[in-house]
Amino acid sequence: MQIRFHCPTEDCVAIIELEPFEECEGSIRCPRCNVEHAVHITESMRVQRQLDLCAVCGASEMFLRKDFPQILGILVVLIAGAISLSFLKSDLRIAYGVLGVAILVDLILYLLTGLVTSCYACRAEYRKVTPNPSHEGFDLATSEKY
Ligand SMILES: [Zn+2]
Ligand SMILES: [Zn+2]
Repeated sequence: MQIRFHCPTEDCVAIIELEPFEECEGSIRCPRCNVEHAVHITESMRVQRQLDLCAVCGASEMFLRKDFPQILGILVVLIAGAISLSFLKSDLRIAYGVLGVAILVDLILYLLTGLVTSCYACRAEYRKVTPNPSHEGFDLATSEKY
């Protein structure tokens, strides 16, 4: 599993990334402020690579989201839009065709991207995990509790 979280030290802006974090010995040292942060590695993380609680803050409520780089999706649409516009006067079929291809590319990118499990409380992100069936998509009401 890969973990990615903001260093909990006040005033430290480091983003700590570690893989495979389930093999670390109960703590992760921040490379910037050099503070050792305790992490809770549970049995289910070690054995099944499944998250039952957040290793950083211990919260049990987490949500799933697509790991889709939004900027990439916007870029594809913008480029396709520009190409499409240049063909608008000469050949309408190409103009529409380009847009159709862009939509398809966006869809394929979306389907190919994996899921990120994220903690509601501290926003730590986990990748390459076995999906936990009790985790669902982002819920605003749950988020507002934190
Ligand atoms: Zn730090
Ligand atoms: Zn957390």
